[in-house]
Amino acid sequence: MDNPVIVGAGITGLLTAYLYGGPVTLVDMGKGRTNSHNSLWTVIPNLCGDLRGECESSMKYYGIMCEKFKVHCSLKAVIRVPPRGGETLDSQEVGKLEPLLRGHDGELVGEGLFIQGDDFLNALMERIDGKFVRARVVGLLREEGVVSGVKTDRGRIWGSHVILTLGHDPLNLLGNFGINVRPLKGHVVEAGKLGMRNILMLEDRLGVEGPESALLNGDSQESSDPSVNNSQVERTVQVFKKYLRVTLEVREVRVGFRAVSPDGRPLLMRPLSNVAIATGFRFGWALAPHLARETLKVLGLPQRVNL
Ligand SMILES: Cc1cc2nc3c(=O)[nH]c(=O)nc-3n(C[C@H](O)[C@H](O)[C@H](O)COP(=O)(O)OP(=O)(O)OC[C@H]3O[C@@H](n4cnc5c(N)ncnc54)[C@H](O)[C@@H]3O)c2cc1C
Repeated sequence: MDNPVIVGAGITGLLTAYLYGGPVTLVDMGKGRTNSHNSLWTVIPNLCGDLRGECESSMKYYGIMCEKFKVHCSLKAVIRVPPRGGETLDSQEVGKLEPLLRGHDGELVGEGLFIQGDDFLNALMERIDGKFVRARVVGLLREEGVVSGVKTDRGRIWGSHVILTLGHDPLNLLGNFGINVRPLKGHVVEAGKLGMRNILMLEDRLGVEGPESALLNGDSQESSDPSVNNSQVERTVQVFKKYLRVTLEVREVRVGFRAVSPDGRPLLMRPLSNVAIATGFRFGWALAPHLARETLKVLGLPQRVNL
């Protein structure tokens, strides 16, 4: 039986392993939370550009998986204030949908899904048939001209296929294939619950609320520096305080990275017969179910778990 090595245990790698449904070796160099934990965990098809259809299917698949895994997911309206020219809502309509925003005109950006991402990643981990290795992958292992696994700082790992779901590729492994992925840094501000019902886009910031906390974000700057930039955090907090007129208790600030390909489109490639690369789209959660399915397809591997 095939035994692929999947490098990168973020949402893309874990979903690929889950849908494959057979034995895999997952390799990730991260300790504890991975980059995919530091996200707002929303799928907003109207922000996916020409991949809107793929993001709509993602919403459907997450819905099915959330029910199966008993993980919280909720469908919400996406409201932008001030409006930017889409379907406008007068202040009364805004107030009905989102009482905290009473008095503001807005725009309905469509529907979005919020996934309780921490729980979802844990649920995937528990369901994957395979072993997990914490190591830095430094190259491909080639034997007699064929890729037979990966080289890591802890030794070699053999596998029938190698799937590189490396996110922003911090060790520049994709450079070996002439691919450069840009890291866009952002902060997730986790705050006590504010009473937001929907996904709110306030000026250039975005917020959503799960069962236990509110998650706020919006900044995005090209950088691979993992330290917190307090001025960005402060701006996020000020914007939400200004529009919602609430007190806001910051519980934690996390730094995460989006991976962006040179043309902003997802990278789904098979540079060698048994090697695939999947990354590069700034809304990685929104596209992961689609990318995971296509990655298996491109390698000719079965998808044993059907959604
Ligand atoms: C603040 C913020 C908010 C966001 N909100 C949203 C949102 O609401 N919706 C949305 O769709 N997207 C959102 N994103 C983007 C989304 O979080 C990412 O696109 C997504 O998590 C990428 O998942 P991934 O599995 O492709 O990559 P990652 O989660 O980056 O996983 C890649 C993994 O590979 C490992 N790795 C890399 N190189 C190596 C190596 N050489 N050896 C071993 N391991 C390696 C890393 O440790 C990492 O764990 C947000 C991002 C940020 C920063």
